Amino acid sequence: MKTGIATVSIAGELPEKLAAIAAAGFDGVEIFEQDFIAHDSGPRDVGQMVRDHGLEIMLFQPFRDFEGLPEPDRARAFDRAKRKFNVMQELGTDLMLICSSVHPKALGGIDRAAGDLNALGDVAIEHGLRVGYEALAWGTHVNDHRDAWEIVRRADHPSIGLIVDSFHTLGRKLSPESVRRIPGDKIFFVQLADAPQIEMDLLYWSRHFRNMPGEGDLDVRTFMQAVVATGYDGPISLEIFNDQFRGGSPRAIAEDGMRSLMALMDDVNRIEPAPQLDIPTMPPRTEIEGVEFIEFAADEVEASRLGSLLTTLGFAHAADHINKDVSLWRQGEINIVINTEREGFAHATYLSRGTSVCDIGLRVKDAAETVRRAEALKVKLFHQRIDQGELHLPAIHSVGGGIMHFLDAASGLTDVWDVEFKATGNASEGAGLIRVDHVAQTMGHDEMLTWSLFYTSLFDASKRPVVDVVDPGGVVRSQVIESSDASLRITLNGADSNRTLAGHFVAGRLGSAVQHVAFESGDLFETERRLRARAMAFP
Ligand code: MG
Repeated sequence: MKTGIATVSIAGELPEKLAAIAAAGFDGVEIFEQDFIAHDSGPRDVGQMVRDHGLEIMLFQPFRDFEGLPEPDRARAFDRAKRKFNVMQELGTDLMLICSSVHPKALGGIDRAAGDLNALGDVAIEHGLRVGYEALAWGTHVNDHRDAWEIVRRADHPSIGLIVDSFHTLGRKLSPESVRRIPGDKIFFVQLADAPQIEMDLLYWSRHFRNMPGEGDLDVRTFMQAVVATGYDGPISLEIFNDQFRGGSPRAIAEDGMRSLMALMDDVNRIEPAPQLDIPTMPPRTEIEGVEFIEFAADEVEASRLGSLLTTLGFAHAADHINKDVSLWRQGEINIVINTEREGFAHATYLSRGTSVCDIGLRVKDAAETVRRAEALKVKLFHQRIDQGELHLPAIHSVGGGIMHFLDAASGLTDVWDVEFKATGNASEGAGLIRVDHVAQTMGHDEMLTWSLFYTSLFDASKRPVVDVVDPGGVVRSQVIESSDASLRITLNGADSNRTLAGHFVAGRLGSAVQHVAFESGDLFETERRLRARAMAFP
């Protein structure tokens, strides 16, 4: 299966877009006319530039307002199409997208549209080109993929096929099941996009709010299952119009796109019996069993202050690392690690961000499988030197510059506290804190989708609806990502403005980071009583 992405989905100048798309591992692009209108050189050079990046041009788009016109507009539409065909030949692509007409003079009529496409097919075939017809959700006469298919069927031309786009079908709340009835070889191209469920004008929604499959609320998976059932084996391409993406980091958006596609294809392969999409096999989403540890990077002075705070909170300084300047603080099932090493990742985090959470350890069913899935989803693995007597704990680079470790009981990794640490003999009565309830991570609002996609593609976790939290300095968007039994609960807080508490935090930390960790208590009033007894100050 080939993967593609529309250049319009990515920010930047064309060379920057292409570099990001190639680096993310896509096979090709859908190219927009604006790309080379805005670019210094012509279509021939643009085509060469795309190929120089190891990419192919899978589609040229869009060609608008073609079908169903009366003369003389009809003849003009054909002249326009011929000029586009010449451009396509210079670019080096053989497929054009025609979207259903919104022309005020378009007459409608399925046979008229089919006749126009059939005649265009004759021109296209002379150029060695093909044309795909797509029903725009806001098309004047054709706004349903079933009508577009009927037009293509009646056009009955080898150079004329159908293009389906998940947004146009799902955005109009049409069932994708009817896609199953279309012959796979008459589908020339498949475009995917998701979107948050917002009631607004379809055109505006489509142009500004689309996002990657899995980032929104549309059932792109069912749509893709229907596509696969047809036997379609052409490219699967992302066509995402999103204001934030257009202003975002080209590399990050391209990586998110590839991650979303791989996770979606894997989901489809697990559900739809046949045929199977040709993607690397990966283990299923990881089941989280709990937060095993939270690690802070600090220097000695701040580590001492942090230790005092933890003592007040009822934690015991339970153990020290056998090789490293790392201490373990424990209460209930909660393990807090303080790392004051002068080298390694924690130290680098301390130098760039000050005392902060640098690492989260998750208890999972199978740590090795978790990392295998992460790798298949193009997440970078994290490696650090292992000294004598230490376990190899698999780890990945999380979003926002943190590290995430995975520990499982089956391979003995949850014994790390006995293997790598020496008990101090210190104990504490504790304050009734049992386990980590949630970890709150704060980021710029434009990074939230990246984070939620990261967690939901990797872990067996779902997202709750975004909640707007009003802060005196602006609005903070908050979203909970949670595993089914709440063993992992992460709140993402996206700040638009530096004047909010969350925004201030992001600016002060030079980027996204853990803003707070919440602990669960079996009896809050008892916990409060014990904390007051330990001289904990409450606001
Ligand atoms: Mg489309």
